[in-house]
Amino acid sequence: MSGANSDGKNTPRKGLPGMPFCESTMLRETVERAIRWLEDLPSRRVGAWASAEEIRKALGGTLNEEGMAPSDVVAAFSEGAASGLTGSPGPRYFGFVTGGALPASLAADWLASAWDQNAVLAVSSPAASAAEEIVSEWIIDLLGLPPESSAGFVTGCQMANFTCLAAARHEVLRRSGHDVEKDGLQGAPRVTVIAGEEAHATLLVALRMLGFGTGNVLSVPADGQGRMIPEKAEDALRAASGPVILCLQAGNVNTGAFDPCARIIPAARAKGAWVHVDGAFGLWGRMLPSLKTHTDGVELADSWATDAHKWLNVPYDSGIAVVRHSAAHRASMALNAPYYIAGEGEVRDPSQWVPESSRRARGFPLYCGLKSLGRKGVREMVERNCRQARLMALLLSEDPMVTILNDVVLNQVLVRFSCPGSDSDAFTRTVTAQVQEEGTCWAGGSVWKGMAAMRISVSNWFTSDDDIFRSAEAIRSVLGKAARSGR
Ligand SMILES: *Cc1c(COP(=O)(O)O)cnc(C)c1O
Repeated sequence: MSGANSDGKNTPRKGLPGMPFCESTMLRETVERAIRWLEDLPSRRVGAWASAEEIRKALGGTLNEEGMAPSDVVAAFSEGAASGLTGSPGPRYFGFVTGGALPASLAADWLASAWDQNAVLAVSSPAASAAEEIVSEWIIDLLGLPPESSAGFVTGCQMANFTCLAAARHEVLRRSGHDVEKDGLQGAPRVTVIAGEEAHATLLVALRMLGFGTGNVLSVPADGQGRMIPEKAEDALRAASGPVILCLQAGNVNTGAFDPCARIIPAARAKGAWVHVDGAFGLWGRMLPSLKTHTDGVELADSWATDAHKWLNVPYDSGIAVVRHSAAHRASMALNAPYYIAGEGEVRDPSQWVPESSRRARGFPLYCGLKSLGRKGVREMVERNCRQARLMALLLSEDPMVTILNDVVLNQVLVRFSCPGSDSDAFTRTVTAQVQEEGTCWAGGSVWKGMAAMRISVSNWFTSDDDIFRSAEAIRSVLGKAARSGR
């Protein structure tokens, strides 16, 4: 059956007998559609045109009773959704911390969907299990983490934080003679959880889901760049008794700054604490010798959470939890059921290392993305984006109305705009909104130390220096106009 009816309206779907299994024409057309979108990305307006509400109106309504031809459904869906798509995989999207998709990793992601493998057990997909095992070794090696570590492949850094902290909870309570998997937190010794005041919101969500409660987290003050102040961390450690979990950060989501791991971790380990590092994007800074003063000591921790869909430019969703103590990692995540006949011997069942059971084969896009870049390619991508962030800061700061609020050590640039006679918070928000509206590039708003800021994150493999020049020029032109119109 083919979607002869091209008006997108309710072509009745024929019964299953005689239906082609794979709708090859429709799938080929879909690939063409996807390629056209990718080809347009570098030149299109970066922001979306339509709001979620407008898209909901265009695509919504009650679900049709009769099925429709897949080709009609997909054509109408992709046309209806188009104006609500952001150019976030493109080279001038600087919002949040957003990577694009390396061509090889995108292709492997398509295969992961077509192959539709269940990465739950080695027996349900030997290839999915093997790919995860291979990339976990590569990633642990690239990041210079202890080779005995284990890795779990999750949706993002939020779940990576959760997975790592579940292993932490297991281990610190096991050392106190408490089995948290069996008995929960009921009757458990009190765990002291310490984190920086600049900890990412998702770390706090992970702690909340693990039963620690955000209200019980000891918050350590940070300096002007968002780095935990080591003396304050040492004070908190000294005051703690019983099991301790200390959460550090590699790459502040606003400034890109690193907590001083080399200084703090040895003190924490002396106290018997489990040290976790949230390194969603900053952990990749470990690849650059030039960042050694910032990233040294990170490897001394017990667990590390990072993202592949940010700086590694693997398509959503892809996060990685790395744990030094694989027994604790496994004990906190293990899935046991009589109908899950685990593989023999050394087989790696993907579900033993993550909160999920059935899921997609996240190892495939990682494998192909990493291989297409090679070690050198990953290093160069990270290095290039850092240099481009400095270039952006330099170009913008030529304008006297611009203040760069952070030391640009990584890929993050925090920009504040001011204009004589107007409130700088309001002016910064106005300029940010107008930059988004103008469309050459897209950057989001943030608040840093109580001040409104525009946050630029350079995280895309395809961003060129020309993209930085064009974007800086567009931002400065919007700024000039906003200043002249006195807003
Ligand atoms: C982005 C980010 C997270 C959350 O990652 P998700 O991929 O959105 O789950 C956690 N920590 C830091 C420092 C981040 O930048």
